[in-house]
Amino acid sequence: MGKTNKYTYITNYSGITMKIAIEPKPYSDETLSSWIVRTAFANGTDPKSFALSIFRQNSVWYRDLDRYIPEDLKDRLCKLASLSKEKVVSLTLEPLIDNLALYPKNNPHKKWYFVLPIGLKGFVKTGGAYFCPYCLQDDKTAYLRREWKLAWNVACPLHKKLLILRCQKCDTIFSPHKLSYLEPYIYLCSSCGADLRDSPTKDTNDEVLLFQKALNHMAFHNIDSPFQLTTQNRQDFFATLHIFLAFFAKANKYNYHPSLLRFLALPSYAIMTKNNATFNRMTVRDREYLLFACSKIFQYSLHEIIQLFKEFNISKHRFLFTYRNLSPTIESLVQHLHDSPMLGKKKKNPNLSTTSRAISPKAPSQVDKLFKEIEQFL
Ligand SMILES: [Zn+2]
Ligand SMILES: [Zn+2]
Repeated sequence: MGKTNKYTYITNYSGITMKIAIEPKPYSDETLSSWIVRTAFANGTDPKSFALSIFRQNSVWYRDLDRYIPEDLKDRLCKLASLSKEKVVSLTLEPLIDNLALYPKNNPHKKWYFVLPIGLKGFVKTGGAYFCPYCLQDDKTAYLRREWKLAWNVACPLHKKLLILRCQKCDTIFSPHKLSYLEPYIYLCSSCGADLRDSPTKDTNDEVLLFQKALNHMAFHNIDSPFQLTTQNRQDFFATLHIFLAFFAKANKYNYHPSLLRFLALPSYAIMTKNNATFNRMTVRDREYLLFACSKIFQYSLHEIIQLFKEFNISKHRFLFTYRNLSPTIESLVQHLHDSPMLGKKKKNPNLSTTSRAISPKAPSQVDKLFKEIEQFL
């Protein structure tokens, strides 16, 4: 093993390309990058040299291969690995994005607002991989899950703890592809070598866990929405969720609609992520708060939400801000909202409140009942 040259596992001395010597079997919920890292280590090399020898380019780790793998790179990998093209694609989020994005046909690069980004945006360094230290501890061979790449997954459903992104000792973002062949364990910090399986993590909220679980079932198991807010289909559901998350982020940041937030019994919390970050660029705590808010509002039917928004005088503008791509459900909601807060006050019609059924917050027993109903689908 000591003599391993970085090309020996795929090229013989006459330069003829050979297959990868040792190929671990991918787990069904594993990411492609996790499998590449494990395969590199199994062959006595490091992930960077291994990827370079397969893909013939250095920049491959700047792409998000877990989101989707371009055709040329897929061809190169399948020539050297025994995995079929379908299997390689199934280790990425591409099939899920194709199923769930509202406009899949206009989406050749498989962009989706729920995928956690990697790389640089302006001067903001994002990325790395979120993980549950207890899952890595329990695994026979530690590996990274596809679920952890999606922004609504803030906690591990098995261990009920928030996912983490950084080494607690040196604050470096978890980046196992940067490990050398001398540290061939995916769970080590690539900067200080600490065993990340020992990282302390925090508890999460049960309602958020249940909400997250329902979203994963819809996304990974093609199950329709079990929520009161019934939407047309799953594409519509996720696009609607995205707009509500942005709405609650703005409401929190600018202190808008305090009466609605009180009505939903949201805890007092100040979003920490700066620069108007989108949901997928927020800290895990910020995302947890916003998911909690959505888990509350999604217990109401569309009709009830329309009434609530009217009652709290929420204008179309305050709800959408600059949003352009609306989901069908949001289209039908905003039809009922007025355009500006001033107009709303003037138009306030006393008949409206007497004819419409008053909405009250759901009692804890009702909430329990609703979540019990949802649980049957999980
Ligand atoms: Zn876990
Ligand atoms: Zn470290």
